[in-house]
Amino acid sequence: MTKAAASDDRFPGFHESLIGTDFKETYGCKCSECGYEFAAKPSLLMLSGVNKGSGSCIECKTLLRLSIDDSGEYMNSARWEAPNDRP
Ligand SMILES: [Zn+2]
Repeated sequence: MTKAAASDDRFPGFHESLIGTDFKETYGCKCSECGYEFAAKPSLLMLSGVNKGSGSCIECKTLLRLSIDDSGEYMNSARWEAPNDRP
């Protein structure tokens, strides 16, 4: 996998704080739409330092934008509003 360089401005969501993170295998995530809780794996972008991911809620099928929260323990979810804003 390609690591994102710190100077790479193609990724405005770049967070150096994710680099060197000891990622968990899965993160608890609560669907922002229906409240269903599921486990989400970190995305390839997250693993390379960009705190962005996507996934669908297995309950309501809403496409969600995912990011690891500040605690590093959970993922935040939000309904994916802009189809062109792909990670
Ligand atoms: Zn849901």
